[in-house]
Amino acid sequence: MKPIQNLHTHSTYCDGKDAPEQMILAAIEKGFKSIGFSGHSYTYFDAVSSMSPEGTEQYKKEIRSLAEKYKDKIKVFLGIEYDYFSELDTSDYDYVIGSVHCLKFGENYYGVDSSKETTSKIIAEYFGGDGLAFAKEYYRLLADLPNRVNADIIGHIDLITKFHGRIAFFDEDSKEYLNVVAECLEKLKGKIEFFEVNTGAIGRGYRSTPYPNPAVVKLLKEYGFKAVINSDCHNKDKLDVGYDLAIKLLAENGFDEYYILTENGFSSVKITNKMYGKKFTDLFKIKKKKKKRR
Ligand SMILES: [Zn+2]
Ligand SMILES: [Zn+2]
Repeated sequence: MKPIQNLHTHSTYCDGKDAPEQMILAAIEKGFKSIGFSGHSYTYFDAVSSMSPEGTEQYKKEIRSLAEKYKDKIKVFLGIEYDYFSELDTSDYDYVIGSVHCLKFGENYYGVDSSKETTSKIIAEYFGGDGLAFAKEYYRLLADLPNRVNADIIGHIDLITKFHGRIAFFDEDSKEYLNVVAECLEKLKGKIEFFEVNTGAIGRGYRSTPYPNPAVVKLLKEYGFKAVINSDCHNKDKLDVGYDLAIKLLAENGFDEYYILTENGFSSVKITNKMYGKKFTDLFKIKKKKKKRR
């Protein structure tokens, strides 16, 4: 399947490897119809990964000017990945991804996806070794996101499972954990319309599957959230990583469509048999048979 769009892109303005123009050229070459930039919003405690206030102004100008330059080849959107702890006016952006990347204890901020060592340390130091309590605190902040920013897309909803390919901090299929997620979704419902299937950790070698966990995808469907597919790209070569897996994840967990941003807002794309191999054709056949029997 050829990816149509990626709205989660990081460039040299924050912690990405490539300049925006290089990303655009790679997207054109890979056949994308559109690309959105979502630089990390400024947070004073993480000046390395986030865009400085001056950088943010330059970023806005450059993305808009590149959008004009390449408008006949690809549609370029200006977005922002808004961190929970940011303070930023988002009215200039075409869309907003809202994400929680850190927990705060006293005056200290700790990245939940910095390294497995950091996460282990947070859990030991602040949660008495209880991984689920750590998860609860993360989802408490995520549920509060609409009070911080008007976001279109929930960023990498279960980011805290990033290292679960190597070390599990809690059981992400347990009823207890899924209840915590469900409680959060209940609060986000009606306030943020979309979630992303995020393939970024595959591109960066941390995971072999996209976020979210299949059980969480089912919950998102249950609560009426709509899907977009993003590669959270920090390297132009990985722009299209894992899109097949993302489609598979959605189709297997109740979704028959996903959404892309257009000039007229978000628009639905049907997930068809053509997009995924024989296995999915079989899956849909089974569905049809069931319907006939009723
Ligand atoms: Zn992020
Ligand atoms: Zn990101």
